[in-house]
Amino acid sequence: MKKTTGMNRAVTRTWRPATQAVRGGTWRSEHGETSEAIFLSSGYTYDSAQIVADRFAGEAEGMTYSRLQNPTVAMLEERIALLEGAEACRAQASGMAAMTAALLCQLSAGDHVVAARAAFGSCRWLVDQLLRRFGVETTVIDSADDAAWEGAIRPNTKVFFFETPANPTLDIVNMQHVCDLARAHGITTVVDNAFASPALQRPMEFGADVVAYSATKLMDGQGRVLAGAICASQQWIDEVLMPFQRNTGPILSAFNAWVVHKGLETLDLRAHRQSGNAVKLGEFLEPRIVAAGGRMLHPGLKSHPRHDLAMAQMDATGPIFAFDVGTRARAFALLDALELIDISNNIGDARSLMCHPASTTHANMGDEARAEMGVTDGLLRINVGLEDIADLVEDIDQALTRAGI
Ligand SMILES: *Cc1c(COP(=O)(O)O)cnc(C)c1O
Repeated sequence: MKKTTGMNRAVTRTWRPATQAVRGGTWRSEHGETSEAIFLSSGYTYDSAQIVADRFAGEAEGMTYSRLQNPTVAMLEERIALLEGAEACRAQASGMAAMTAALLCQLSAGDHVVAARAAFGSCRWLVDQLLRRFGVETTVIDSADDAAWEGAIRPNTKVFFFETPANPTLDIVNMQHVCDLARAHGITTVVDNAFASPALQRPMEFGADVVAYSATKLMDGQGRVLAGAICASQQWIDEVLMPFQRNTGPILSAFNAWVVHKGLETLDLRAHRQSGNAVKLGEFLEPRIVAAGGRMLHPGLKSHPRHDLAMAQMDATGPIFAFDVGTRARAFALLDALELIDISNNIGDARSLMCHPASTTHANMGDEARAEMGVTDGLLRINVGLEDIADLVEDIDQALTRAGI
């Protein structure tokens, strides 16, 4: 197995993200296959006892066991690192495996975490429940309030943890401000970049230390597999993450890694086209929703309080936005009237999908936390897909009319 046959590694590092997404980290076997191979093997064999001893001692490169390395997974890790502009990446079994590992690998009882209150439901569970059970103090703040980050710092603050844009209220965090603040206080910043993907936003350019992904979302992008990834410096991956990862095993399967490879080849195209569709659909919806007394939460529209910041931090604002139609009854009526767009709680998919966060993705958190996050009963979240925008507009139009909005 040769790494990138005929390619100079120094040159491949300089490729731009769209090129990395197609070619970064390609390894080819002696067969010269065009597409990445799937190595479905849990273990490896060795030509000599010394070779395996050297590998276990960390003195020679090479595979030892698929909980630690697998060629298909390693190719994906290299590709995501190149896309992100990170020194290193480790793939994970799911997005939540990635978030859990990124936090638990570095925290101990007595540490303190400051986290954004607007977050994916399971991320909030980690912060509100799991970490506290193990003696880690946590504070949740309004992540769009720049001053709130500084105000929450304690002498034992170890980690800042946030999403931007956030699920499902599309709050935008000022990454430069928050990362600078973290650096000044020796705090590690962990950014969940699932909503944007590295095609649209690269938090390390603003000083983030660790970028964690649900690759289930835009990276696969076709609703097929669960996958996750953690990007950071080589030293952090080796010294902080790997002791946790090698012994707890949240590793991605080779098959799922291969599926994500296929997704990454079209990531740039999909992320930009879906972002464009999301802006057009938002522009169509906004006057109708506002006239009906509702609210648009769309970072790609001028009405978003942090539209300018979103445009400055992101190449495009992504496929996801939310809007509030006032009541649960109206939200359900709109969902039930859809004929093209599916009722589904996934995001990043090439299909347009809509869901009611309060009764699905954010149902398991208490009423109080939901209210504080702005997940109201009339809130709907949409992932805008790759369909023809005219068909999407027609579907929303007829559904709004039938729902009486
Ligand atoms: C989906 C999602 C996750 C969890 O990812 P899984 O792959 O479903 O485990 C974490 N964070 C955000 C922002 C998400 O959208």
